[in-house]
Amino acid sequence: MVKKSKTKYIFVTGGVVSALGKGIAAASIGLLLKQRGLKVSILKLDPYLNLDPGTMSPTQHGEVFVTEDGAETDLDLGHYERFIDVNMMKMNNATSGQIYDTVLTKERKGEYLGGTVQVVPHITNEIKERIFFVANESNLDALIIEIGGTVGDIEGLPFIESIRQFKYDVGVQNTLYVHLTYVPYIAAAGELKTKPTQHSVKNLLELGIQPDILIARTEKTIPKEAKEKIALFCNVEKGCVIEAKDQSTIYQVPLEFHNYKLDDIICDKLGLETKEINLSAWEQYVKYIKTPVDRVKIGIVGKYIGLKDSYKSIIEAFIHAGSANKSKVELVWINSEELEHSGPDEMLSEVHGILVPGGFGDRGIEGKLLAVKYARENDIPFFGICLGMQCAVIEYARNVGGMKNANSTEFARKLKYPVIDLMAEQKKIKKKGGTMRLGAFDCQIEKGTNLYKAYKKDVISERHRHRFEVNNDYINTLEDCGLILSGKNPELNLVETIELADHPWFVGVQFHPELKSRLTKPHPLFKDFVKAAINFKK
Ligand code: GLN
Repeated sequence: MVKKSKTKYIFVTGGVVSALGKGIAAASIGLLLKQRGLKVSILKLDPYLNLDPGTMSPTQHGEVFVTEDGAETDLDLGHYERFIDVNMMKMNNATSGQIYDTVLTKERKGEYLGGTVQVVPHITNEIKERIFFVANESNLDALIIEIGGTVGDIEGLPFIESIRQFKYDVGVQNTLYVHLTYVPYIAAAGELKTKPTQHSVKNLLELGIQPDILIARTEKTIPKEAKEKIALFCNVEKGCVIEAKDQSTIYQVPLEFHNYKLDDIICDKLGLETKEINLSAWEQYVKYIKTPVDRVKIGIVGKYIGLKDSYKSIIEAFIHAGSANKSKVELVWINSEELEHSGPDEMLSEVHGILVPGGFGDRGIEGKLLAVKYARENDIPFFGICLGMQCAVIEYARNVGGMKNANSTEFARKLKYPVIDLMAEQKKIKKKGGTMRLGAFDCQIEKGTNLYKAYKKDVISERHRHRFEVNNDYINTLEDCGLILSGKNPELNLVETIELADHPWFVGVQFHPELKSRLTKPHPLFKDFVKAAINFKK
């Protein structure tokens, strides 16, 4: 029997090649529906077997996005938050690993009553349960479900089978299938080619899914005839082939979709009655991304600098903060190991601000410490995030506090001055996945500090992902030599932020502010850091 459904379900799949921007497409659809007054959320289903990306190397998976409730998730959840301005939770990302884990745990408990446990129906049912759970938990008008990977992948098949069945569980009128494909331009022929799209849709059809809407990624404008050809061969209505041409900024994508009436088509097909769309705030921020009035250079000193996906949220937070300051933030990527050898004069003399991001392990640490010292001594605005803040404390202890070889116990043993140390609650933990200090925690802010100037609040909440902390045994010593501890966690009395007094803007934070920056709500610390960099340039 078909279940009664308040929620409409929009499935987003991808074909032809990976990296077409399914996450951005899903987030853009989410934004358009939200701006029409609907309650929306997004669920990412990832076909890989890890329980979550938390234990994967940034070189494999890019950034790990941490949710309010402390889940380590796929970086697409960051795009969802930045676009639809809704906090994602643990339930908004499920991997094959989690699905199998749940099913196998049930099997061990005897819950299948001696039955043979199979991909269909047990795995597919569990996938559908998770989709229903998100929709019901948040009482949504519309839930967008993005399927990771590319149609035809072996590991993605149970997900595709589940969403095929879904239509018959909730009724045809409550489901919509959006397929993202690629229309390549063949330079030698001077033509856009539709065949890969036709093949990709055939693939989907073989698996029992007829897409309702095709979003075609392309470098060049797709001529009307080519769109009609795609529509004809793929059984979709003419108006339902939406062009998604490369844009100078991802934040333009929803505006383009709206120009092509994608939100009208979706609402029409799903029978959604909504109010008029309001994109004015969004357009305002996009305007300054595309036509900034000033430029400023920020140096990012890290060890994964070849892999920009590892710092996704930081990059995006700078785009938001840049727009808020009507400026373009040009990021200069500086390899901390190279910096250690070439020296800061060589590599940092051009920048107007220095950021040391989060990270793990001792590789490149000495280079990061040189960058902190250079920023401190030359009055260059400095922002240290997580490991970056820990580096700022180590540098200060060594070079101002006279604590020779002060360090973190993450990088060295038998230290005379372990100014950064493993948190007490972490000392007994042996298991790897999901065991760090994760998720949102409160931070009490000292009045009169840069932190207070940015947030204009006494208590804030930010997300964390770390095992080490400022060693509380050194609080007095560090304060005595002038370090300002501007924010503390009220429950555990942990040092969450540090600052310098005689410096234009020098802030280190143990949390990850970049995770909460959204285009229409740029993060206050990034905003002020960029402002300080603009002033420094002047
Ligand atoms: N490696 C440090 C810790 O575990 C910093 C972590 C981070 O930057 N996310 O505390």
